[in-house]
Amino acid sequence: MNLIKRQLSITNQTIILFLLILSLTFSNTAQAFKVYVFTDMEGCSGITGSEQIGGTRKDEGKKFMAEDMNACIAGCFAAGATEVVVRDGHGGGTNVNAKLIDSRAKLVQGPTPGVRFKDFDGADALILLGYHAMALTPGGVLAHSYSSASIQGMWLNGREVGEIGVDAAIAAEHKVPVVMVSGDDKVCAEAKAWIPGVITCEVKKGTGPQSADIVPVEEAHRLIKQKTEEALARRKDIKMIKVKYPATLRWDYLPKGSLRTHNPAFKPVDNPRRVEKSGDSVEKLLLGK
Ligand SMILES: [Zn+2]
Repeated sequence: MNLIKRQLSITNQTIILFLLILSLTFSNTAQAFKVYVFTDMEGCSGITGSEQIGGTRKDEGKKFMAEDMNACIAGCFAAGATEVVVRDGHGGGTNVNAKLIDSRAKLVQGPTPGVRFKDFDGADALILLGYHAMALTPGGVLAHSYSSASIQGMWLNGREVGEIGVDAAIAAEHKVPVVMVSGDDKVCAEAKAWIPGVITCEVKKGTGPQSADIVPVEEAHRLIKQKTEEALARRKDIKMIKVKYPATLRWDYLPKGSLRTHNPAFKPVDNPRRVEKSGDSVEKLLLGK
């Protein structure tokens, strides 16, 4: 009798151990997730003017951008992300010094012809970091839509749109929700108008195209990490945006040699060159594929 009891108890222990291993394996698999962080520069902490994003103070701007990336990467891993891809997405895409970026993340730099988000496959969430409001947004710091020199406005299916709306539409085409947006108060408002439930992180209050009230930079980094964690914890509740297809994208191009849209002296032109295209993919329309 005792022997049978002992054997039963050993069998029970084996089963419990097996179930424990199985549940640990299963829960690890269930929690594995990849985050894609597309980083622009105009909306990064500490950035107010065009001289920081390509002018005499650009080295300062590049450092601010790297610091925001690292705050976000830290938030991703603290939230349990198992893979983080961070895209250097301003201008030519070679802004940050790779040595300064948290080595747990994969950094994508340089041109990526034909795709908006390189290495996007398998991503569970997209973060738009350091973004700016659409062209001509009153009080939007360095506000523009893709090109401050050549575009004064864009419309998606008749609704005026900036990079937030277009990028969220492209992400939705890849079945990925945009969960967090950082930048000034204007881009945060734009993000909320386009993406219901998105988490926003305000690192400055825009007071003009080249002026802002800045959140102290260390505090902004703390906020970025905290909001990233919060957004990733809620990633399954944040919906992808819905776009009607065929989609129509319209551009109002400026005459060559115009002032940049974020120059305080810029006035919208009455006779822009208007281009409108329709198709089954916003990404293809944007990239001219
Ligand atoms: Zn930019």
